[in-house]
Amino acid sequence: MTVTVSTPWQMMGCPDCGVVSPSRGRRRRVLHDVPHGDARVRLVWRQRLWRCPEKGCPRGTFAEQVPALVAPRGSITTRAVTWAIGQLRREHATIAGLARRLAVSWWALWRAVRPELERLAADESRFAGVTSLGVDEHLWHHSDRRAKGPKELTGMVDLTRDAHGRVRARLLDLVPGRSKKAYADWLKERGEDFRKNVQVAALDPFGGYKSAIDDELEDATAVLDAFHVVKLGTAVVDEVRRRVQQATTGHRGRKGDPLFGIQTILRAGAENLTDKQKERLVRAIEADEAHDEVFVAWRCAQDLRAAYRAADLADGRQTAERVLATFHTCPIPEVARLGRTLRRWRAAFLAYFTTNRANNGGTEAINGIIELHRRIARGYRNRDNYRLRMLLAAGGLTT
Ligand SMILES: [Zn+2]
Repeated sequence: MTVTVSTPWQMMGCPDCGVVSPSRGRRRRVLHDVPHGDARVRLVWRQRLWRCPEKGCPRGTFAEQVPALVAPRGSITTRAVTWAIGQLRREHATIAGLARRLAVSWWALWRAVRPELERLAADESRFAGVTSLGVDEHLWHHSDRRAKGPKELTGMVDLTRDAHGRVRARLLDLVPGRSKKAYADWLKERGEDFRKNVQVAALDPFGGYKSAIDDELEDATAVLDAFHVVKLGTAVVDEVRRRVQQATTGHRGRKGDPLFGIQTILRAGAENLTDKQKERLVRAIEADEAHDEVFVAWRCAQDLRAAYRAADLADGRQTAERVLATFHTCPIPEVARLGRTLRRWRAAFLAYFTTNRANNGGTEAINGIIELHRRIARGYRNRDNYRLRMLLAAGGLTT
């Protein structure tokens, strides 16, 4: 579909000297516009031209500019750029797919979209009102030699609850590296008002991020993520099972071994087990005295889970305190080690129960969105483009 557009006549002064300039007619500029259904739309803009009559003026001929229609020297209309950004943001679209629909090259579209994303990303007002902050790391590429810089990125996520107490997680930024410095530098850049406003800082058990929070967010409560703590408990059960398996049979688990095939049962919450699964668990434990260790480790992991599952936060906290008071003295070395870890994280571990269950779950959800969009785009080589695209997809840019 081709649509021809032009602006009405107007008196025009030279942009340099202001002298009224006579028209030099119009020229046809072909622009790519938002598709109409499946039909591509070509906009023919009859762009006005003028010539400055002033002899000493360097301007010469000049052309009409309509920023609401198209950027200077652009070939994609302003509204098509806005449309493309909306498609990238909400419809899981790709630059390649949108470029096809607009009948432009990948580069032409990205050149038009990028400055707009950069403008939105540079707007510090998008950091306003953050009272709850999550942090996590992820790999942005795996073995692409063309991609430059560290594979790990540290991501900051807004976990502030809305009026209904719901978390609408929003990716705030991605910075290179996985270290205290990566997080601390970003917090410093945000300024004192931002840092003072953050009351809760959720994190996975990584000491680097913890010291960044301690140094830069003095007023905030650090909260160790519940999901990761439960996972540490599950990992302990796995380790004990493997060790006991090796010690009693001299080999790794195989079919017919009592401890083989109960991994899934050991990882599940006790309350979710069917009667049949419970029977299998009992049979496996009773098969050998040495298996008692597995059972004790399993009980410990279940206690840890129970703390988080308690309907009443005060009850949960009591269970958590019991875990802190007992695990480190357990004769099972793996459980004792977990006990020592939790005692090192004591305040952040218990903070879950005093912050109305603050956790890093929203950050995990954002990581899922990032993963999805990285796959849709079939990977990235340029970290700056990756950051902009992920900010857009994961709600970090106000559009
Ligand atoms: Zn002039």
